[in-house]
Amino acid sequence: MSRFDPAVFAAIVGEPHVVTDADAARRFLTDWTGRRTGRADAVIRPRSTGEVAAVLTACRGRGIAVVPQGGNTGLVGGSVPADGDRPTIVLSTERMTDVGTPDPVEMCVGVQAGATVAAIEAAATSVGAHFAVDLASRDSATAGGIVATNAGGVHVVRHGGTRAQVLGIEAVLADGSVLRRWNPLRKDNVGYDLPGLLAGSEGTLAVITGVLFALVERPGQTAVAMVAIDSIDEVFALVAAVRTAGLTVEAVELMTKAGVRLVVESGSRPALAGESAFQVLLEVSGAEPAQRLADVLDTVGVADAVVEDGPARALWELREKHTEVIARASATVPVKLDVAIPRRGMGGFVAELDVWAPSEPYPCRPIVFGHAADGNLHVNLLDIPDEEQSAAAELMLAKVVERGGSVSAEHGVGRDKAAWLERVRDSADVAAMRAIKHAWDPEGLLNPGVLFV
Ligand SMILES: Cc1cc2nc3c(=O)[nH]c(=O)nc-3n(C[C@H](O)[C@H](O)[C@H](O)COP(=O)(O)OP(=O)(O)OC[C@H]3O[C@@H](n4cnc5c(N)ncnc54)[C@H](O)[C@@H]3O)c2cc1C
Repeated sequence: MSRFDPAVFAAIVGEPHVVTDADAARRFLTDWTGRRTGRADAVIRPRSTGEVAAVLTACRGRGIAVVPQGGNTGLVGGSVPADGDRPTIVLSTERMTDVGTPDPVEMCVGVQAGATVAAIEAAATSVGAHFAVDLASRDSATAGGIVATNAGGVHVVRHGGTRAQVLGIEAVLADGSVLRRWNPLRKDNVGYDLPGLLAGSEGTLAVITGVLFALVERPGQTAVAMVAIDSIDEVFALVAAVRTAGLTVEAVELMTKAGVRLVVESGSRPALAGESAFQVLLEVSGAEPAQRLADVLDTVGVADAVVEDGPARALWELREKHTEVIARASATVPVKLDVAIPRRGMGGFVAELDVWAPSEPYPCRPIVFGHAADGNLHVNLLDIPDEEQSAAAELMLAKVVERGGSVSAEHGVGRDKAAWLERVRDSADVAAMRAIKHAWDPEGLLNPGVLFV
């Protein structure tokens, strides 16, 4: 007999927010890629921290697993439940969207977990500030989701990842108690960094209900260049030249010929007349950035480039449409691997991929793009039959590890890469992580199957 009783949860969040109808629940049970579909007894949509605490208390007493979900844009299968018969709820933060008034002196804003990245940036802009996390999923990805995955995005090269923006946190623990550290202090060394620990915890330690984010100064005038390059190593020489010229590097995004071609075929305007092996998008800030960036590109002898005043949305579109057009262009759901490679090895890795991918044992079309300055590549393998996808992903990740890379740069481990945890971290490291998990969630109710197999 199921331990799930909808009436218990309806009494907490209200009947309309206990979703049990299969059609209404479908969007919460399938991930963004469409590759993972799970099962849950219900989707519960609380409005407040108090309601989340009551929901978790009810789950604990009944042995019901909880899958926290924000915008459901995660790409490693962590935001949807597994397809088993364990009593499970999805806890969606989609009603927890409050954004507080930004504080222009303390340079921070407090938000509920379900506030989107776009909403946080809009609030920051209203006081002349800026939210340092930005990613193409900005209209759906949430505060709780970006903290739980320690999301990267396009400005890591300038400001660091999400963890670096977290000043305070509010979270409900597995036993229903509320942990709250909510102080805009930049310096506070009292005890363990629990907000930092929750960053990257992927819903396995607590349900994040609110985040106090740091804001940064707006970059002022920006310029964006699209530059044709023949080898990835040229990216780092370009970035060094731009910095030497006194410009601030805001973003460095890499694309390949194959990826740009797909985006252009989908209707976007090409930036450059010719086709080069790679294109790199550089965003910089500083005084007279467009002119100075053009001067730097001349000095280093770039043959083909275009420079525009920021925000240069048409140039950014060429990069940001990659995920969407790749999904449409593949005959099967593409294998998507977010990896990091030491900078010196990136060129060799991509060259090897171009040779390996079209050949046996898993012939496919590779399309790579990513946040180049961070050594972060998004490897997409198109047209691989469903039954061969896991083996192809394994082979690819093994090549990443051989090159001293990481199997997860910014998307997290989720369910997709859980089997890799013990292969890339040593036994003491894994034991310490398991001890933390056990201390915070002794009954293993929070996002089972994510991070740990
Ligand atoms: C087009 C596109 C572009 C993207 N670009 C980037 C990029 O540049 N950089 C990048 O890092 N990622 C990127 N992503 C991946 C994704 O957007 C990020 O991982 C994002 O952080 C997920 O946020 P979300 O709110 O959608 O979380 P979900 O997908 O809902 O959840 C992700 C994980 O966080 C957990 N979680 C969510 N909310 C909570 C909460 N309140 N408390 C505890 N755990 C929670 C979930 O259980 C799950 O494990 C992209 C995705 C798409 C579709």
